[in-house]
Amino acid sequence: MEQGQVGPTRIVIAVNQSSLKGYPHPSISSSNAFEWALKKLIRSTRHKDFKLYILHVQVPDEDAFNDVDSIFACPDDFKDLKNREKIKGIHLLEYFVKRCNEIGLACEAWIKRGNPNEVICNEVKRLHPDILVVGSRVLNQLEKVFVGTVSEFCSKHADCPVIVIKRKPEDTPQNPIDD
Ligand code: AMP
Repeated sequence: MEQGQVGPTRIVIAVNQSSLKGYPHPSISSSNAFEWALKKLIRSTRHKDFKLYILHVQVPDEDAFNDVDSIFACPDDFKDLKNREKIKGIHLLEYFVKRCNEIGLACEAWIKRGNPNEVICNEVKRLHPDILVVGSRVLNQLEKVFVGTVSEFCSKHADCPVIVIKRKPEDTPQNPIDD
């Protein structure tokens, strides 16, 4: 880039899968946050001024519940299982990357494993984006204690400005913890 030229505004958006439909469907809150960013932040005429970084964090299955139906006979079987999980995450990213490509918006998407709160904040430290966008299920105090809240953690701890897009009341599933 030439001296004095300002680069595009770099936006990280954290996305997760639907807890109701699973992969490859995005959660209601992260899909809303993505559409909000396209419509209100980036807007149709200014795509070249922005670059979107789409981050999905896969949470390791602590009790290995997903693995109970699998049979392991050699080291490759374990590799297969890890790859299967990763492929599911890739289909989620494909949804968002396709949307960006359709409208000509530059993007990069990637998957990390770990605790979403920590990973998102670490990736912000590494990338130094201008803005982090996250969705929110708008949980109440009790629900937050039981299941935790990624948006609240990130807005407190991420080293950059954070935009939290609240899920609309009419989009809230029967169980608000679901998304
Ligand atoms: P909350 O309802 O406060 O837990 O925030 C939900 C939002 O956090 C989602 O819309 C995503 O933006 C983000 N989020 C939650 N889990 C993940 C994950 N595994 N990977 C990336 N972002 C996530």
